[in-house]
Amino acid sequence: MGARAVTDVVRHHHSRGLGMTSSRVRDALVEELRRQGIADERVLEAIGKVPRHEFVEEALKSEAYRNRALPIGHAQTISQPYTVALMTEALLGGGSPRRILEVGTGSGYQTAVLSHLVETVFTVERIRALTETARTRLATLGYRNVHFGYADGTLGWSPYAPYDGILVTAGGSEVPAALVDQLAPTGRLVIPVGPPQAQSLRVVERRPGGGTRERDLGAVTFVPLLSGKI
Ligand code: SAH
Repeated sequence: MGARAVTDVVRHHHSRGLGMTSSRVRDALVEELRRQGIADERVLEAIGKVPRHEFVEEALKSEAYRNRALPIGHAQTISQPYTVALMTEALLGGGSPRRILEVGTGSGYQTAVLSHLVETVFTVERIRALTETARTRLATLGYRNVHFGYADGTLGWSPYAPYDGILVTAGGSEVPAALVDQLAPTGRLVIPVGPPQAQSLRVVERRPGGGTRERDLGAVTFVPLLSGKI
């Protein structure tokens, strides 16, 4: 995983005087997330390691450690750090899943956070340009345990299924059946569901005896989960 490369990147920017991207600013974000109720120390530590300013364009770098969503082009956004932390915490569920599928690579920020926490991350994106930028970015930052796919994630990513966990970073009106099918027997799916103005974050757990159990973690706002590739 890319811990050394990440530290070097931060030091490099700091020495150029970009104080808004220093690791101290990132630590302040971690403390804010802790105050907001994120309790899994592994998640906080991972967020503390990922240089979020490397995932947005130059003009937005000074905004990167504020707790808000930011545009990444193609009408998409990098999620708010609190939402990334909440979804990641729900995905881990206090356990240690090994193989995770992320639907909606976007900037690759959530991918990088997951990469610090699990053995292998599989991530799919329907916009080719975003997949390619994220792939190059994560390689440059030293992340090695990520497999990128250019695919419609409403169909899951069957070649590598089943997954211990699936995290969807775009919201649709329902839970795609293919995603539940591609979960391991006790796997869990974290996904925003509902109409654009009334989405909520759902955790769907597959039960060993068959069937699923669903929990609702409250209101969220995500870009739409769309079919097909562009
Ligand atoms: N996890 C991203 C969030 C990006 S926004 C990050 O940290 O930056 C959500 C992303 O989901 C967008 O890039 C969008 O193109 C993608 N998306 C929407 N529907 C999709 C689908 N069916 N399959 C794969 N990706 C999808």
